[in-house]
Amino acid sequence: MLNNQGRPTGAGAVAENAHARETFTRNRGLAMEEPLIFEVGRLDSTGVDIDEPEPFTQRLGKHARTAPIDLPGLSEPETMRHYVRLSQKNYAIDLGLYPLGSCTMKHNPRLNERMARLPGFGDIHPLQPVSTAQGALELMDTLAGWLMELTGASAVAMSPKAGAHGEACGMMAIKAAIEARGEGAQRRIVLVPESAHGTNPATAALIGYEVRAIPAREDGTVSVDAVRAALGPEVAALMLTNPNTCGLFEPEVVAIADAVHAAGAFFYCDGANFNAIVGKVRPMDLGVDAMHINLHKTFSTPHGGGGPGAGPVVLSPALAPFAPAPFVRRDGSAFTLVESAAGGQAFGRMTAFHGQMGMFVRAMSYMLSHGADGMRQASEDAVLNANYVRVCLSDVMSAPFGERPCMHEALFDDTWLKGSGVTTLDFAKAMIDEGYHPMTMYFPLVVHGAMLIEPTESESRASLDLFIMTLRDLAFSVQRGDVERFSGAPYHAPRRRLDETRAARQPVLRWTKPPPADGSRIAAE
Ligand SMILES: *Cc1c(COP(=O)(O)O)cnc(C)c1O
Repeated sequence: MLNNQGRPTGAGAVAENAHARETFTRNRGLAMEEPLIFEVGRLDSTGVDIDEPEPFTQRLGKHARTAPIDLPGLSEPETMRHYVRLSQKNYAIDLGLYPLGSCTMKHNPRLNERMARLPGFGDIHPLQPVSTAQGALELMDTLAGWLMELTGASAVAMSPKAGAHGEACGMMAIKAAIEARGEGAQRRIVLVPESAHGTNPATAALIGYEVRAIPAREDGTVSVDAVRAALGPEVAALMLTNPNTCGLFEPEVVAIADAVHAAGAFFYCDGANFNAIVGKVRPMDLGVDAMHINLHKTFSTPHGGGGPGAGPVVLSPALAPFAPAPFVRRDGSAFTLVESAAGGQAFGRMTAFHGQMGMFVRAMSYMLSHGADGMRQASEDAVLNANYVRVCLSDVMSAPFGERPCMHEALFDDTWLKGSGVTTLDFAKAMIDEGYHPMTMYFPLVVHGAMLIEPTESESRASLDLFIMTLRDLAFSVQRGDVERFSGAPYHAPRRRLDETRAARQPVLRWTKPPPADGSRIAAE
């Protein structure tokens, strides 16, 4: 039963008593409410104390401002508190286990941060003379070399700034290669399996291709027969994720690559899940022509809110000539940045400068501190941890592909929730009450009510056990019919159930000043 505040009142729910009511400040314990920056502070009591200017002649003419600029009016301590409170509303990998499947939320080693802050890397400017940034160019060249070594590629474009940006880069190289063959008008279709990340069809559509879906097999993988049936002289490329978004290594990937090449098309591999196979498999050996690498997934650089990121793209010999500018060239012991594609076949450029230096340094630091054997071990541990979670939950939750081992992430569906009155979404919200960021939900689309759990290699055995026991405890609540634990969850979060669809479709991005322009927080309420 819920009271009118949406709080539970039944047995087994959060104890409801006088002390659990809405507080005067709306803070909950030491979790602070925080209004928008425009709603705190006052302009008339903050700012810098300077003398009235001497009389002067104003030369701005009609450009002189007539109304107040309406900046927020906060003092330094108020500003600090505002931003620190906001920062505490984020869940982060530095706070706890973050099992978001496909996203690879692994620990960002502090050594990486220390290296990225070295003045020779941290304080350089993309426009300073190349002769004064030789060390940085050498690092880019070394990192590029390692990426080619680990993937078996013959070229790598370093400038793309995220996985999706890398997809665009790789697909533009493919498009340029097809146009150079004079087949641009004929090859208009890109094949994308149903299990693909949404960025794959979006990328193909963005650069002007028609997208055709390939159905998944019962076991979550892509069959070479389905690919063959869809191939033809009008197909430009296939985009395939391997390991795929069900956490499975595509068993027919080599036959698929052969079929794609025999039809005159290119094989784009979404390499977001490279973290499962680094040091074990070189993707180019499987027949891949282009693949992006998310440095923030595989090589432990931080995930930003959309950036700054780095998504280098490795390319096969057939695509290497079309790689975008700029790129680093080594002439003896000196490094130059080749800025213009003049005379070559480069399709253009992806970014204003050369890419995300800070991320290059962090990824290089990760690689050097792990070494080849350490990176292989990280892949093995990621796979081991995912299978540990899978096996420890398989008696209480349902796995769509049975007892089959997974790679770096374990996929469950909602068959086990049927008839319980609890949905995948409810289950995820109850995880929030337990202090866990939910796993990836309702993706991949090929299974019903998907729950995709990626623990990564950076969790300890103890951390995994607590996570598993928590999920088992939640599963037992489902079995006991304690629907309330789920239907009203999250009970402990500062906000309860939000209209997430409306928030995504009609975001309110602009603050409008309330009519009584008082500026004081209490009066505004
Ligand atoms: C994360 C991911 C992407 C996109 O990468 P971004 O760096 O977030 O742009 C693409 N495909 C798959 C399978 C992913 O997991």
